[in-house]
Amino acid sequence: MPKATETILEIDLNALSNNYKYLTSKLKNNTKFMAVVKAYAYGSDSVAIAKELVNLGADYFAVAYPIEGVILRDAAIQTPILVLHPLPVNFDVIVNRCLEPSIYSFKILDEFIAYAEKTNQNNYPIHLKFNTGLNRLGFTEDEISLISKKLAATKSVKVKSAFSHLGASEDLSEKEFSLKQINTFKRISEKLTAELVYKPLLHCANTSGIINYPEAHFDMVRSGIGLYGFGNDKVENKNFKPIATLKTVISQIHTVKKGESIGYNRGIIVEKTTQSATLPLGHADGIPRSYGKGKGWVVINNKKAPIHGNVCMDMIMVDVTDIECKEGDEVIVFGSTNTAEELSAAINSIPYELLTAISQRIKRVICRK
Ligand SMILES: *Cc1c(COP(=O)(O)O)cnc(C)c1O
Repeated sequence: MPKATETILEIDLNALSNNYKYLTSKLKNNTKFMAVVKAYAYGSDSVAIAKELVNLGADYFAVAYPIEGVILRDAAIQTPILVLHPLPVNFDVIVNRCLEPSIYSFKILDEFIAYAEKTNQNNYPIHLKFNTGLNRLGFTEDEISLISKKLAATKSVKVKSAFSHLGASEDLSEKEFSLKQINTFKRISEKLTAELVYKPLLHCANTSGIINYPEAHFDMVRSGIGLYGFGNDKVENKNFKPIATLKTVISQIHTVKKGESIGYNRGIIVEKTTQSATLPLGHADGIPRSYGKGKGWVVINNKKAPIHGNVCMDMIMVDVTDIECKEGDEVIVFGSTNTAEELSAAINSIPYELLTAISQRIKRVICRK
């Protein structure tokens, strides 16, 4: 790759392919793969990622909100798309763009059936979400009979899948909890399948579910973070390649004398003559303010440069006193080394949060390394 000349997020489609192949190598031949591309494909570029995943053979996409599905449809992606978190106000766009809603409550079920009947739908695909312990979205086991009764009374919708979500699949100290969720989901699936006259697809495993609970693969798995290069585990991470590298450049270097301060609110007062580099990247770009005052760092010419002072909206200042560098030099914020996992751990966060926060104003550069 040529050196960065401004802030960019490089997205490596070969890394994506590596991750997809690793994840699907864990599956039985007929298990389907739903690629979770919500939040701009975890902060990368949902269209570029989805197009590559279509070529790789993904069977389904999942997004959180309908607008994310619209972006994919506008890019001519025809693969089925599950919308994980729709609201009644979204039904028009869902149906107009052939998106498939997750139905997680009687309010959504009743209103979607009413909408589907009003617009003369026939067997419109819906997905029933069950709560097996996460207590976030979903029907409970004892609601199955009433769900089936409502479904039997209409031809406007058809249950394409039934699913649940694991709350702690990456945490092996919560194995008992996860197995209980999986068993509850099994029971729900059996009851539901017995009541419907057809068999919906069943799915409940996210990335860590794929890795840790083969018995939870059912008919389809849903993976997000794994595709983007993280296995939620030190050993597993070796099998994945982070797809995103956040790079920037040094805009200016200041020599700051002992006793002078740097940045807003005099976030640091230096104790000795300090070389400070200013970078075009700030909290509006997804670098949390909590990385200020030495908590976060970037890498310049293979050396760690701590973020000193406070993170500004559009800039950070880093200490380069011990680093040989000049204005215009490339800076790595995170990537295949100095990973988003390591950087997020410094503020007790997770790569999911750091990746998805990277602002849309940062240019995405698609490559194959
Ligand atoms: C985000 C999400 C996923 C993906 O989880 P990963 O841990 O990123 O693989 C799967 N299922 C649901 C319901 C989700 O909300």
